[in-house]
Amino acid sequence: MPKLTTSLDAYEVWFLTGSQNLYGEETLQQVADQSQEIARALGAASDVPVKVVWKPVLKDSESIRRAALDANSDDNVIGLIAWMHTFSPAKMWISGLDALKKPLLHLHTQANVELPWSSIDMDFMNLNQAAHGDREFGYIQTRLGVSRKTVVGHVSNPAVTAQVGTWMRAAAGWAATHELKLARFGDNMRYVAVTEGDKTEAELKFGVQVNTWGVNDLADAVAAASESDIDALVAEYEELYDVVPELRKGGDRHSSLRDGAAIELGLRSFLEEGGFGAFTTSFEDLGALKQLPGLAVQRLMAEGYGFGAEGDWKTAILVRAAAVMGSGLPGGASLMEDYTYHLVPGEEQILGAHMLEVSPSLTATKPTLEIHPLGIGGKEDPVRLVFTADPGPAVVVAMSDMRDRFRLVANVVDVIEPAEALPNLPVGRAVWKPEPSFSTSAAAWLTAGAAHHTVMTNAVGVDVFRDFAAIAGTELLVIDNETTLDGFAREVRWNNAYYRLAQGF
Ligand code: MN
Repeated sequence: MPKLTTSLDAYEVWFLTGSQNLYGEETLQQVADQSQEIARALGAASDVPVKVVWKPVLKDSESIRRAALDANSDDNVIGLIAWMHTFSPAKMWISGLDALKKPLLHLHTQANVELPWSSIDMDFMNLNQAAHGDREFGYIQTRLGVSRKTVVGHVSNPAVTAQVGTWMRAAAGWAATHELKLARFGDNMRYVAVTEGDKTEAELKFGVQVNTWGVNDLADAVAAASESDIDALVAEYEELYDVVPELRKGGDRHSSLRDGAAIELGLRSFLEEGGFGAFTTSFEDLGALKQLPGLAVQRLMAEGYGFGAEGDWKTAILVRAAAVMGSGLPGGASLMEDYTYHLVPGEEQILGAHMLEVSPSLTATKPTLEIHPLGIGGKEDPVRLVFTADPGPAVVVAMSDMRDRFRLVANVVDVIEPAEALPNLPVGRAVWKPEPSFSTSAAAWLTAGAAHHTVMTNAVGVDVFRDFAAIAGTELLVIDNETTLDGFAREVRWNNAYYRLAQGF
């Protein structure tokens, strides 16, 4: 299997230009030239992360339908951008849009920025009529119920390329979940409700295959790790992290680090051989593993693997999607858990962490590699990376199965430096203030039935998740500085009706 990647290099987005044959050869050549220029400018923008491929101008139903079918069948094509430079009678788009299975962005732009007041004539008007060509296109998309992102403005405007780039990242996340195979080692933590869900529906909705393996299949792979590979990996740890003396070569507990390295090697080989991009573990089902996987999980997440603890495959999907959506950007994505609070009035904060499994991609600092007892799981003391997430803007997103749909809930947060050192908390952790306030955020979160597990990402913002949810056709509730509790509760009630009606009768 090819090595897992978060790279967007293989992906492309096709740029479609709509017109018709009535305009004549000369005008259609101008349409072709100018649309290539728009596509080129888009592709060259620094915040546009995916290759833009211009396609010949579309002038009739059959070529439009063919373009949609070709896009559907090409795994590298993660979405289409469409622009009606001239007037493209929209009945020509019906069969194509009806066939299209890929994400769509309607770019409402034009070739010129300024009106050429002194020279404008009817030829210019004839050529530059996206103002009504795109309205015709908007009508048919809405009439057909086509989900799409609409972006308005000239491509020289950074706000326009930023929106296109954001949508491309969401489309890449969507492509990634459709390529995703997720391995569960053991089942969910017993009696827990929110980590459950409909895996069959998830495969239809997000394209992800979620299946379970016995943990001893993993333990066998761990046992197969060679001493020389363990030597090499331990040397890598010593180079990358501040390894505490007891774990270093010659230290009292060096053998525990070697056990941790064997777990990483076994886990990695299992995932690579099966072509898995995400996985879950369960502390209640560790079989012959000597430790609860901590260090290994942290490092795999930092490379872009999705992960959920306690069998939480839904969060593992989000972690993988977020890693791809944040490709090439500073920061990363990690499993996070709302753990405990600082409740001093006016300075409320959330301390997030997990037993072990928080990704060091949330910090640019050098983690320490430590060993400490872990009461839960009943195994030997696990090795783990210890660090604090870097301060700055971030977003946490949870997925709940509401029976008839998957609900995403996102909270925009501000990760801050902890007020004091945390010398007795040897895990990866983050301290944050949620928007719009602690009380509104937490009350809204609880109202939504959102989970205690989330993906935290400091690489992309909530807008990428908005586009992702729109592409997926699934619910997203956002808690940010615009949120009021009354308004949020109304949205939850309305969504309950909307998402049931939207499925048809
Ligand atoms: Mn947990």
